[in-house]
Amino acid sequence: MTFTEFQTFITPLAMHFGAVKDEPTWRLYHAALLAPPAPSVVLLQRVLPRVASSRRWFPTVEEFRADAEAERQAILKAHPHARCAKCRHSSGFVAVTVEGVERVKRCACFDVYLTRLERLGIGHEPLALPAAEAAAAE
Ligand SMILES: [Zn+2]
Repeated sequence: MTFTEFQTFITPLAMHFGAVKDEPTWRLYHAALLAPPAPSVVLLQRVLPRVASSRRWFPTVEEFRADAEAERQAILKAHPHARCAKCRHSSGFVAVTVEGVERVKRCACFDVYLTRLERLGIGHEPLALPAAEAAAAE
């Protein structure tokens, strides 16, 4: 997401919260929000209503990323990996023979699952660590 695209994305949220920042501050916010592992544009668009409704003030980058991670976790929970018949009873792995030696590798159905997650706009890395309050409450 370029800075111009970010401005188009963030302006409604900033107006919602009455947040006024100068351009250098927005550029820092943009860089920090999209620092690796960067949330996808699809995920950021999806999480925007959550951010707008769950926060009292314009979110810090950490809060925005925490909300994006919560959305990512919700998507992961809603789309669990369903193992195929070949790997259902072997924890997602299948036996292969490499140079006469029997080994195991992750089943091809897992790659299909990863592709599906990418289409949903979520990667494989957490975007933020759990919030201290949430971790303490568990
Ligand atoms: Zn499988």
